[in-house]
Amino acid sequence: MARLTLKFGGTSVGSPAAIDQVAQIICEQRRQGHLLAVVVSAMSGVTDQLLQAAAAAAAGDQPAYQGINAELLARHEAVINQLVASPAAREEALEPLRDLLRQQLELCDAVRILGEASPRITDAIVSFGERLSSRVIAAALRERGVDALQVDSHTCIVTDNNFQQAEPLWAETEARLRRQLLPAYEAGRALIITGFIGATPDGTVTTLGRGGSDFSASIFAACLDSDELHIYTDVEGVMTTDPRLDPRARVLPYVSYREIGELAFYGAKVLHPKTVQPIINRGIPMRVRSTFQPARQGTLIGERTRPSATIIKAVTSIRDVSMLTVSGRGMLGVPGIAGRTFIATAQAGASILMISQSSSEQSFCFTVVDPLAERVKAAVEAELRREIQHKAIDSVETLPDIVIITVVGSGMRGTPGVAGRVFSLLGEQEINVLAIAQGSSECSISFVVSEADLERAVYELHSLALETAAIDRANGQGSYY
Ligand code: ADP
Ligand code: ASP
Ligand code: MG
Repeated sequence: MARLTLKFGGTSVGSPAAIDQVAQIICEQRRQGHLLAVVVSAMSGVTDQLLQAAAAAAAGDQPAYQGINAELLARHEAVINQLVASPAAREEALEPLRDLLRQQLELCDAVRILGEASPRITDAIVSFGERLSSRVIAAALRERGVDALQVDSHTCIVTDNNFQQAEPLWAETEARLRRQLLPAYEAGRALIITGFIGATPDGTVTTLGRGGSDFSASIFAACLDSDELHIYTDVEGVMTTDPRLDPRARVLPYVSYREIGELAFYGAKVLHPKTVQPIINRGIPMRVRSTFQPARQGTLIGERTRPSATIIKAVTSIRDVSMLTVSGRGMLGVPGIAGRTFIATAQAGASILMISQSSSEQSFCFTVVDPLAERVKAAVEAELRREIQHKAIDSVETLPDIVIITVVGSGMRGTPGVAGRVFSLLGEQEINVLAIAQGSSECSISFVVSEADLERAVYELHSLALETAAIDRANGQGSYY
């Protein structure tokens, strides 16, 4: 018997057939005697629809958000009608869904009247996706005789009030979560928990950021002392690159916490970047696997870095990024300019994805997501106004339409010449590299190229990853399936 936390993503709960498949997996795990906490996403596309509803409400478009509300009711009702047989059980399952969607409509009406969707009310509106899906799934499980307890995570995940990107308050969360859920978990009830959402200490609903259900699942795994965390998704595991960018992508059987941290931060959408945080210190192993091929092992993620000839394990990319360059001869040896720039960037609400400085100290550059670039530029210029007036700094320039590409692999540590191979390959392809940075953990190298070169660069570097993987296989290390 093991204590497990399972997480099912949007596609995995996106249709009656998919939910039926999820129910089969849960029943099989219970048959094996495991204790289960199951974290679920909203049905695929629902979070996007809820965001559209909030935007439509702010724009005064009542028919648009009413239409979305009606579609959501029809879609969730259809699942109940298909998966729950008896009329009484159906009615019992449907009533809370109708009630939630009435509340969702009221919030949209409020936004229409105010003419503005603040981050706070937007979080309240998008939270309904998981609140609906978890109830539907719990009903489908009860139909199969599973003792399922639906749980709204905003009753136990306590966060700060950074709406849309809230950070858990660990001590409060752990205490509440254990008090509220440990007895039921240990008594063998299947907990069916909303991903993505939390609440401030005073009970206002927050969300953990897009794709945040992976992070929620990891919080539950850590606080409930799970032995393992299984992330069920629509691909077979963590792959050598996004299979949508290159169909040659292969599943990686093993990835270390550190490698997955870099992969997720630099754009591998398969996991939310914060997922490993709660489990890394407790050493809880995680598996990424397919809902639709549950017999496959997927990718195991854990502490060890396996010895491997595979220098580059995976290639990722982030689109829609801008690069800002601060330059000027007067910067040479002047302390504090970079620090002030980065503080101004943070105050403008942007996270820095990558930083690079040339050795001459006459310029440095950093990247932020496109929509915030102009705001960051203005904030940095205001901060450095004096230096600009005195011509110590020539300019703060923005370069749009660039992408960050990252190659990841712990084999890079102490392997000379990896960067050389990467950049000579790009040189041969006449791909211009605009900036370079090596991750502090030495298991990744990131660089900036123009958007137009993205697909070619990923293809070529991915070829290199597949080629070195072949050496592993020849050595019997079997790092790849
Ligand atoms: P879920 O709804 O289950 O959370 P996501 O859509 O968030 O699923 O993440 C899974 C998707 O991530 C896959 O369908 C795949 O297209 C994409 N992806 C990007 N990079 C990778 C990678 N390196 N390995 C696997 N999948 C990746
Ligand atoms: N439903 C949320 C989203 O689409 C959270 C998640 O699925 O992880 O972003
Ligand atoms: Mg996801």
